[in-house]
Amino acid sequence: MMEDVLKKIFRYDQFRDGQREIIEAVLAGRDTVAILPTGGGKSICYQLPSYLQSDGLTLILSPLLSLIEDQVMQIKSRGERSVAKLTSLESREQKEQILRQVDQLRYLYLSPEQLAVPQIQRRLAEVKINLFVVDEAHCISQWGHEFRTDYAKLGPIRRGLGNPPCLALTATATRQVEHDIIAGLSLEQPERIRHSVNRPEIQFIVEHTDPSEKDAVLQTRLKTVNRPCVIYTTTRKEAERIAFFLPHAAYYHAGLEAEDRQLIQQQFLHDEIDCLVCTSAFGMGVNKGNVRTVIHYTMPATIEAYMQEVGRAGRDGQLSTAILLFSPGDQQLQHFLVDKQYASVLWIDQVARLRHQGESFDAIERRLRLDPDEPAYRLLKSQLMEGKTQEDIIGWQEERKKIRLRELMQMINYIQNTSCRRAFILQHFGEPPIIQDRCCDNCGTLTTDAPLIETETEQLDWKRRLEEVFFSSRHSV
Ligand SMILES: [Zn+2]
Repeated sequence: MMEDVLKKIFRYDQFRDGQREIIEAVLAGRDTVAILPTGGGKSICYQLPSYLQSDGLTLILSPLLSLIEDQVMQIKSRGERSVAKLTSLESREQKEQILRQVDQLRYLYLSPEQLAVPQIQRRLAEVKINLFVVDEAHCISQWGHEFRTDYAKLGPIRRGLGNPPCLALTATATRQVEHDIIAGLSLEQPERIRHSVNRPEIQFIVEHTDPSEKDAVLQTRLKTVNRPCVIYTTTRKEAERIAFFLPHAAYYHAGLEAEDRQLIQQQFLHDEIDCLVCTSAFGMGVNKGNVRTVIHYTMPATIEAYMQEVGRAGRDGQLSTAILLFSPGDQQLQHFLVDKQYASVLWIDQVARLRHQGESFDAIERRLRLDPDEPAYRLLKSQLMEGKTQEDIIGWQEERKKIRLRELMQMINYIQNTSCRRAFILQHFGEPPIIQDRCCDNCGTLTTDAPLIETETEQLDWKRRLEEVFFSSRHSV
């Protein structure tokens, strides 16, 4: 029965690892936490059960507009019309119309911000919800690398909707994050399905360079690595700068017009561009099997983010390479970015005082010239609206920063680790080590395009630099 639907509707011959278990748990009405690797076919797990149920709605919470758009498009392209989305992009009229007809729908995609709207909750409470899906569920955890305050409200909202069965999905979660997902969503004795984060087809390399040599090293590597290739940078500016000096490279970041992003993504998907320089904005929902190399020009802030980005290589199961370039001082940028995500104490004090004097947020924004879309300010505003005190907010932020810096330290430990990198990553996610060929630069058995050919003296030099890096980073982070 399940196989028939898989073939007829989704045009797949067989289930991938984990999919059947998840669908069976969902059909049995059980709460489920599923940790599936990126590209493991998560969407089928919540889209398929609906065809085996006579009626009812599948509600899908997703943190990113681009992800929602992409999913709705895919569903429509297979001929399924009973799908809609509620995001900040729909007009009021559109939203009202969708809500009127919501009992006719099979799937409704929502951003967590929209689900927080009382009017939407009231309407949804009137219809039968078969499944409450939380995609990218790690966003609920303060320990997760993409913590979202809106996600913290999902547990109570789900209860308000009559506690429909819940499926929480994520690609990467440590035991702590898994625990937070279960607690945050109030899952009852959930089925836990966890697949190894290991990607045996990817070999891991870290290359230490001087800051002044990094561009040259990148250029040299690009001559030997296999393509298509994705190069991750931290900032938009950097993505553009690098794309300009690399031949035949394009850049992609969230600052581009939606149309341009779409175009570049399509060209990359169709192998018209074989080198893409991008920020972390690229990748979620992009399904390209043959990416052979992922290079990190700058380190991501967490091992979770690193694995998610690296996981875009080798989805076809063919040998692929992940290279991380590291220069002493790279961690300072990440440190700075962590700080930037939170309002300064001075800011909090000013805004809180004006609020206390009865000023509206609009007036405060004008007076202090605050950008209402600035993330640190938005976070502060939402906390003040929740009635948190200034002390609460400052204390909470300090705690958050500590967590983020600890995560950053783990990433630095990965870079400086001199034993097997795969084992390090697996241990981070609570998994035992795996011994395999073509593993990592520390195991030293790379056989394809691995660009590590070093003489003895270079190795010594490399070790010396490593010590320097470790020493400096311990003092700066
Ligand atoms: Zn290894």
